[in-house]
Amino acid sequence: MRPVLRTYTVRGQRRDPDEIDIDIAVHGDLGPGSRWAATAAPGDRVVVCGPAVEEAGGVEFRLPADPGWVLLAGDESALPAIAAILEELPAHLPVRIFAEVDGPAEEAYLPAQRAGVETVWLHRRSGAPGLTGAVRATDLPDGRPYAWIAGEAASVRELRRHLVGERGMDRRAVCFMGYWRAGRTEDQRAEDGPGEGGED
Ligand SMILES: Cc1cc2nc3c(=O)[nH]c(=O)nc-3n(C[C@H](O)[C@H](O)[C@H](O)COP(=O)(O)OP(=O)(O)OC[C@H]3O[C@@H](n4cnc5c(N)ncnc54)[C@H](O)[C@@H]3O)c2cc1C
Repeated sequence: MRPVLRTYTVRGQRRDPDEIDIDIAVHGDLGPGSRWAATAAPGDRVVVCGPAVEEAGGVEFRLPADPGWVLLAGDESALPAIAAILEELPAHLPVRIFAEVDGPAEEAYLPAQRAGVETVWLHRRSGAPGLTGAVRATDLPDGRPYAWIAGEAASVRELRRHLVGERGMDRRAVCFMGYWRAGRTEDQRAEDGPGEGGED
């Protein structure tokens, strides 16, 4: 039987003993990943595979030289990556975060933020607009932006189209990746093939 494979962000890694932290957005009993996260207990065993190549498809956050500001956008599945990116960013750099989550409880996930970081939380349960609606309604800072977007594939694609098509952002400065797709399991997406991420 083929093992079930799911993809997650390594939020933290330590040595002696070797440990990694993975934060999983539980979305009910809908998939083996979510189900496992909801029921996992100390002593349960999983096999962990790291990326086979250093640059896995050109969708990593890669800050260009001298960016004016950074836009980070995504849903719960992208919050671990956003938290990790925030730790790496130069302290002076202005950052706008758009985070689509179920409700206010999820806001605690991102650590206390430094000056210059503004976060717009979009609460699904309260009928907030999606990522694109929220970004479209916002005055963005002046200066050369770099954007990183991840989350539900259609929502990611829509926001990327808005940034490049309507806001005139350089397409090479918009890094995007569909982390999951509504109505499709990760196995089905693998069969669908690539086409949901990049920097082109
Ligand atoms: C590079 C990368 C990094 C990722 N990092 C993380 C991470 O750190 N944390 C994290 O939680 N996820 C992360 N994801 C997303 C995660 O891999 C998917 O959400 C995956 O589909 C979950 O597997 P599952 O078995 O729970 O659901 P699946 O069996 O894949 O899907 C079952 C059903 O659930 C739906 N579904 C899948 N994910 C979600 C979701 N997040 N919310 C609502 N419905 C969903 C599907 O549309 C499908 O209908 C990452 C994905 C990628 C590509």
